[in-house]
Amino acid sequence: MNILFPLAVASAAVLSTFGAHAQSFPANGKTITIVVPFTAGGPTDRVARDLAEALRKPLGGATIVVDNTAGAGSSIGAAKVARATPDGYTLLLNHIGMATIPSLYRKLSFNVESDFEYLGIINDVPMTLIGKPTLPANNYKELVQWVAANKGSINLANAGVGSASHLCGLMFQAELKTDMTPVPYKGAAPAIADLMGNQVDLLCDQTTNTSGQIEAKKVKAYAVTTGKRLTTPSLKDLPTLKESGLGNFEVTIWHGLYAPKDTPAAVVKTINDALKVALKDPEFIKREEALGAVIATDKRIEPAEHKKFVQAEIAKWGAVIKAAGAYAD
Ligand code: ASP
Repeated sequence: MNILFPLAVASAAVLSTFGAHAQSFPANGKTITIVVPFTAGGPTDRVARDLAEALRKPLGGATIVVDNTAGAGSSIGAAKVARATPDGYTLLLNHIGMATIPSLYRKLSFNVESDFEYLGIINDVPMTLIGKPTLPANNYKELVQWVAANKGSINLANAGVGSASHLCGLMFQAELKTDMTPVPYKGAAPAIADLMGNQVDLLCDQTTNTSGQIEAKKVKAYAVTTGKRLTTPSLKDLPTLKESGLGNFEVTIWHGLYAPKDTPAAVVKTINDALKVALKDPEFIKREEALGAVIATDKRIEPAEHKKFVQAEIAKWGAVIKAAGAYAD
């Protein structure tokens, strides 16, 4: 009895501390911040704002705000979260940049694989190749002719070295064996604004940013970067780059959610559970699908699988970046 009693008390105390911790996140009135490492109004920002809405209910009505800390292809915002207090109140929503920055920026102040808790993949988003409204080419075939006739004087916008648009642009130039002048922005929102204003010639960007402008005919649309044509009404007539003659061209962007390393396991579980509920939210699914995104339903919504997937993507894109010698530093 004498021996068992303290043990029972101790384990009850451990259990209640554990339970209290899990229950107390998120604490009443405490705001959760999702850091988006690109500018407001772009595709990553859009996913974050829609997700914040869908996460609110499963996180007990918590206030969730988006903080745009843009620059250097997502590495500035990611560094901010890597250094944040690991309590679940500062999260990062990043796209494929999470897998390209370790190779593009050889002097990162953080480690993508060891400085974060992985909370789950959110979606996969195709990209589109689009042009300024005054570009004379009206389809992909004409675009290739225009590119050949204007070699050396074509501007290709991107959302910073390491961004998805940068990656897509690198692949496009390699496939066409043409060098274009890169015009970097801190996000795709200012990039597409300048494209619509005829300040730059071409941009490759996620459908979550381009489908509305394509539908409104504010930009010229040439192709999608997926293996198959899309079914989204505004995008279904666009050919794939593969069928247009770029046999190796296939790229899909994904978004994931992260917390700083050492965020308590119970908090990680609470956020992952909430994410799984959000990914089934019919309103969220409807909004994302209308923009061409596909909500994740596979094993990558589990933290361990999310991490494995990112590690595989780091290896995949690292090889592409090394072969292209496309370092940012
Ligand atoms: N979609 C952009 C990119 O090219 C980033 C952004 O969300 O603004 O990576």
